[in-house]
Amino acid sequence: MDANEFRSAAKQLVDYIADYLENIRDRPVLPSVQPGYIKQLIGDSAPEQGQPWSEIFNDIEKVIMPGITHWHSPHFHAYFPTANSYPSICADMLSSALAVIGFTWISSPACTELEMQMMDWLAKMLDLPQHFMFSSGGKGGGVIQGTASEATYVTLLAARNKLLAQHNNNKDILNKLVAYASSQSHSSVERAGLLGAIQIKQLPTDDKLSLRGDTLSNQIQKDRADGLIPFYVVATLGTTNTCAFDNLLEIGKVCEEEELWLHIDAAFAGSAFICPEFRHHLNGVEYASSFNLNPHKWMLINFDCSTLWIKNADYIVNAFNVNPVYLRHDKQGQIPDYRHWQIPLGRRFRSLKMWFVFRSFGVQGLQNHIRKQVELAKLFEELVASDDRFEIITKRELSLVCFRLKGSNEINEKLVKLINDNKNIHVTPTRVAGQFIIRFAVCARTTEAIDIDFAWREICRLISQTIAQ
Ligand code: PLP
Repeated sequence: MDANEFRSAAKQLVDYIADYLENIRDRPVLPSVQPGYIKQLIGDSAPEQGQPWSEIFNDIEKVIMPGITHWHSPHFHAYFPTANSYPSICADMLSSALAVIGFTWISSPACTELEMQMMDWLAKMLDLPQHFMFSSGGKGGGVIQGTASEATYVTLLAARNKLLAQHNNNKDILNKLVAYASSQSHSSVERAGLLGAIQIKQLPTDDKLSLRGDTLSNQIQKDRADGLIPFYVVATLGTTNTCAFDNLLEIGKVCEEEELWLHIDAAFAGSAFICPEFRHHLNGVEYASSFNLNPHKWMLINFDCSTLWIKNADYIVNAFNVNPVYLRHDKQGQIPDYRHWQIPLGRRFRSLKMWFVFRSFGVQGLQNHIRKQVELAKLFEELVASDDRFEIITKRELSLVCFRLKGSNEINEKLVKLINDNKNIHVTPTRVAGQFIIRFAVCARTTEAIDIDFAWREICRLISQTIAQ
């Protein structure tokens, strides 16, 4: 493909993308293919000769679309949202075209410097403490990670390194280290423990599925008495199961007294904190050593963009610093080299997405997006509450409604299966304290009240079949 062919191919693709996203409501939200379907369509090996763009383009509908779960359909209510917007897609195109690898400042100064500014802009939008911002002139700052899972893992390693340094790098203490999170924390927290060979204790929550300070404090005392060394805590703001919030203020005070690293996982809910009315959940953030949220979930910035702020970046840099000659440059030390702030060496120009989206929507446009989706979830909650065949299980938080048919787990499992088999809407369940729960999340940017109504009618339509089966 030469430059002229690229111009026409890319324009055709842009039209295709806009048509796809504008008409997505008409496609079944879930695919009907069976495992292995693609191999049958495209064969076992790459073509020997290059093929014309027209053939490749035509195969998008034939090969790819049948196997797409349409996450941006307004009928998609599963998991949590993943963001999508036109300015963000434009930024990804530019990022692909520039194709820089910004591991050090000199490897592309704009890549590092725009990221620093965007992390400060977003920190201000969220009203985070000054010490998380580069502009404070301290040791804090922000970095874009690929995912919340990486953010947790990176901070766990940094906290481990900090503790080791305090013990003269005596590796004998490693098997005494212990970390904590709530029983409701995301599986990526458990995974970080597995990868870092650190024991992570999942602590019980109160009746609101919130981890409380006393529970944490009691466990720490017990573990210290048993000769263990507590060092790291994850507080979740907006759990995956039910969007519950750990009691950050209580946990923060315990972490301060006990000198533990407090990491906040606000992967989904964090985006809502750009709206002052939801910011009370952040009370206690001043105690945190690190704070993470995924703008790629709810802030109209496409995957991957997981923003992590660290109060003292020295701990991460010291944990990850290796310094081969081929990566050194003469401005080293004057400005961050982000290679020290992450696990991989290479990194894409992801802050372009933040810059394009923040400027296109403005803070108010992003706040409107969050508020609209919360209102749509309220609408769904009202529909559920008005029907006495159903019960709402946990208080609705933000844009997630957790509900179930009154009755057995089995009947609810059947209902979820029927909903997803019918492919008109898509929901995912969860299980808390033995109870099978249906999660209904407002996800796509284009979701409207008619889609909430459509989903509710679909669920009600399938109840009789559920009961008849
Ligand atoms: N933490 C929470 C609370 C989540 O809800 C999720 C995903 O939904 C994650 C972490 C993992 O996110 P990621 O896919 O960015 O690793």
